[in-house]
Amino acid sequence: MKKMDSENVNQFGFGTRAIHAGQAPEPVTGAVMVPIFQTSTFAQESPGKNKGYEYARTGNPTRTAYQDCVASLEGAKSALAFSSGLATTDAILHTLKSGDHVLCCDDVYGGTFRIFDKVYRKLGLDFTFLDFSDLKQVEAAFRPNTRLLWMETPTNPLLKVLDIEAITAIARRKKVVSVVDNTFMSSYFQKPLSLGADLVIHSVTKYMNGHSDVVGGILATSNSELYEQIKFFQNAVGAVPGPMDCFLVMRGLKTLHLRMEQHQKNAFEVAHFLEGHSKIEKVIYPGLESHPDHALARRQMSGFGGMISFYLKGGLAETRRFLEQVSLFTLAESLGGVESLIGHPVTMTHASIPVETREKIGIRDNLVRISTGVEDAQDLIADLTQALKKI
Ligand SMILES: *Cc1c(COP(=O)(O)O)cnc(C)c1O
Repeated sequence: MKKMDSENVNQFGFGTRAIHAGQAPEPVTGAVMVPIFQTSTFAQESPGKNKGYEYARTGNPTRTAYQDCVASLEGAKSALAFSSGLATTDAILHTLKSGDHVLCCDDVYGGTFRIFDKVYRKLGLDFTFLDFSDLKQVEAAFRPNTRLLWMETPTNPLLKVLDIEAITAIARRKKVVSVVDNTFMSSYFQKPLSLGADLVIHSVTKYMNGHSDVVGGILATSNSELYEQIKFFQNAVGAVPGPMDCFLVMRGLKTLHLRMEQHQKNAFEVAHFLEGHSKIEKVIYPGLESHPDHALARRQMSGFGGMISFYLKGGLAETRRFLEQVSLFTLAESLGGVESLIGHPVTMTHASIPVETREKIGIRDNLVRISTGVEDAQDLIADLTQALKKI
């Protein structure tokens, strides 16, 4: 069988790469699936002479296959995997030094805000959080010591879409490294590197693994200098994923293209249902014409994903009652799994944000967030219908 190597893999379509990139049959036994190399160390033939692996913090063949697969999916030269999305963020921040400044979009993932504000600020990094939909404001916020620009699109939970191409172009002009957190769209619907980003990252905990059974993170880049720098920190700091988790994410990736299409199909059906319901005040989904950034979303994404936010008519009591009544939807944090989840940002994911800030950006008591799974849409709609009847 002709091996799909790094030279010929990129001529293939997304689904083919998800299934084959980095994953040739194992040479010793012919195992079709990349084995879980559950080992901490590798035998050396003579001192310093090995088969490419010596100690599993530094490298493991299961992890290599997984990293090569994601690099291919992101159109990157290389990828580096970590034990969580936030460990990935941590490794990138290690490339900075005390006195450096980071520019970040304002409604960034809560854990990203926390590591910036509560961990790295006290080590001497400075952060500015601002609305990245105002490009003039972004341009004006750069300082001589700005070293990193961090963005996430669509944002969470309000699903604002930011212009990756325009924003990373400013960063490049200012010689500042740009990072896009691509968790919400996955590698399938959005390609930040082709839009000008230097680094793309994922919490693979969400869509990339897609089965709510792994916590993990990964980054991809075509900038060899950045790659070498962060690879050094991956090994020196050590937050690497175990081989079992690498295997599971790789298995999840094999159906990423199928899952994302179904997530999106269901999201459209649920969003249209909610938009026409008398007890719903407003639905936010980038795929809807009514979304303020719909045109930009069409331009920069090849799909709109599975995340929907909406405001119920009513306050905290009605919202709570509704959330207690759903049964097929699971009331839980996280997103991107095959099962549908529902969440209440005010009391769950965004509880740590001060009330005034929440109100100002629109995270109100009646806001609900849905991660549409891949169940049958009519069953999801029936569940929402019966829960809405009870308020
Ligand atoms: C979950 C999430 C993270 C953090 O990832 P973990 O795997 O939980 O550490 C970062 N960014 C976004 C957008 C997320 O949803």
